[in-house]
This record gives sequence, C-alpha cells and structure tokens, in this order.
Amino acid sequence: MIGQQLRFSFEFFPPKTDAGLEKFRVVRSQLAQLKPEFFSVTYGAGGSTRDTTLSTVLETQNHSGIATAPHLSSVGDTRDSLRQLLNQYKDEGINRIVALRGDLPSGMGATGELTYASDLVKFIREETGDHFQLEVAAYPEVHPQAVSADADLKAFKLKVDAGANSAITQYFFNIEAYHYFMDMCDKAAIDIPIYPGIMPITNFTNLARFSDNCGAEIPRWIRKRLEGYGDDIESIKQFGEEVITRLVETLIDNGAPGIHFYTMNQAKPILAIWDNLSLNELA
Ligand code: FAD
Repeated sequence: MIGQQLRFSFEFFPPKTDAGLEKFRVVRSQLAQLKPEFFSVTYGAGGSTRDTTLSTVLETQNHSGIATAPHLSSVGDTRDSLRQLLNQYKDEGINRIVALRGDLPSGMGATGELTYASDLVKFIREETGDHFQLEVAAYPEVHPQAVSADADLKAFKLKVDAGANSAITQYFFNIEAYHYFMDMCDKAAIDIPIYPGIMPITNFTNLARFSDNCGAEIPRWIRKRLEGYGDDIESIKQFGEEVITRLVETLIDNGAPGIHFYTMNQAKPILAIWDNLSLNELA
C-alpha cells in the first residue's frame, strides 16, 4: 500500500436532537484530524432535512475547515426549491454536492419534477455550470429497483454523461461485486473515479435492516457470525472491525482510488480501521 495518494471522505447524517448535535461535534473533530478530502451530509428525500442538512453542512465546513458536501436528492423537490438551495450553497462557499434521486418514504406518492439522478446532475450543470464537483451513486450489486444490471449500468453512464465528476458506491461486503462492476464500467467507457463506500459493522439488527432496503448483500459467513454473537456488542464490534479492515486493505491493494466511509456519526470504528491500516500515510 506504499506510494499511493488516496482520497478519503466521511459521510454524516444531520443530528436530530441537541444531544445528537453535541455528540456529532465531537465525532466530527476526531475525524477532521484524519484530514479527509471532504465530509458529506445526507439529505432526507422530499426535503425532510432541508434545514438541518444546510445548517450541518455550513457549520461543519466553517468549523473544521474541511470542504463539506451536501447530499441533494431530487425526488419530491421542485426545480424552484432545488435552484434556491443550489444558490444558497454557492453563496456560502460550498463547492461539492453528492447528487441523488433519493427514496421517498412510503406513502409520499409524488416523484417531483426531476425523475432520475441524471436529470438532477443535468439541472445542476445547467444552473451552476462547473461550480460544483458532483458525486453520484453507483451500485456494484445493482440498484434494487433496476430493471436489470445492464439497465442500471446504462443509468449510471447517463449520470456520468450528464456531468458527474466522480462516484461513490453503495456499501458492499462482497469485493468481487465491486471488481466486476469496475470491469463493466471500463467496458462501458465510464472513466470517472469510483470510490468504494464502506459501512463499518457495529450493530447487526440495523445493518440487516439497511442492507435489505438498499440491496447490499451480507454474505452468509458474516451474517452467521453476527447472528451468533447475539447481544454481545463487543464481539460484534471486534469482528466487524476485522472484516472491514481486511475489506479496505484489499480494496486499496487492488487499486481503489480512495474510500468513502458511511460513519453513521460514529468515529471509533473508523479510527480503529485507520490505525490498523496506517491510512494517514496514504491520505
Ligand atoms: P438513479 O441513478 O436515478 O437510479 C434510481 C433507479 O432508477 C435505478 O434503479 C436506476 O437503474 C433507474 N434509472 C435511472 N435512470 C433511469 C432511466 N433514464 N430510465 C430508466 N431507469 C432509470 N438517499 C437519500 O434519500 N438521501 C441521501 O443523502 C442519500 N445519500 C446516498 C449516498 C450514496 C453514496 C449512495 C450510494 C446512496 C445514497 N442515497 C441517499 C440512496 C439513494 O438515494 C437511493 O439508492 C435511490 O434509490 C437511488 O438514487 P440514485 O441517485 O442512485 O438514483
């Protein structure tokens, strides 16, 4: 792993309570010491975290001095409200965005004025030119609503052709899926950097629920071990740390251009992996 310069980024969600905000500030300052290229902050589809995403992004960039990217999802939003938000971000010195379609909570029927993330990327480029560095989502294990793996790859290419600069993958534990996906992207002449998104393992119930929703497969050997630990949180965390350390190490050894960590607003699992792999030498 010597001699590579890698891009690291850390994703947060906007804290919902005062206590969550206090805890988040501590986590953020711990992770800022790792000098990531950027932080990102998620956005609730339909604008449900519109204000808290905005305030978290601005506070994070201003306090940490690290570029901070809002996630922006188009589903349930109008062109006008998106335009307003884009202008606000631009005026506040934000120059990165993670552009997504988003998922509306069940029961919210409307899809908004822009149907797919590629429409959002196109819209952002039309409205703001090259001001923003745009990240989009990629799915090594195929997006759960995709008609087929090929159709999903075509949808990914549409986002690239619309002006995305780089991509972050949905999290995965199956490294072959990422490598196969990278080969398919090569064949499709998709040449933007694609950063593996990595989810630390700290809690089996939540992980199983997320993974079912977003189509990330938990391999049987991981699921069985996690199930076997029951309420033994310490063993889950220790096993999770080992699995994710190996995954990150293999990805980097095989040429991944960097890593995006889904932090779930926790620093400890990332700090442990960071130390295990001496990643500060590569950042
Ligand atoms: P798209 O790229 O639009 O794809 C959605 C589906 O439509 C896919 O099945 C695709 O194959 C299909 N499709 C796309 N274009 C076409 C087309 N032209 N014709 C036919 N089919 C098409 N969600 C949030 O709500 N907030 C967040 O902050 C957030 N952050 C995320 C960060 C990352 C790194 C990732 C990987 C995901 C994130 N998500 C977030 C989840 C994401 O919004 C969902 O996975 C959503 O279902 C799809 O978003 P997308 O941008 O990939 O959509």
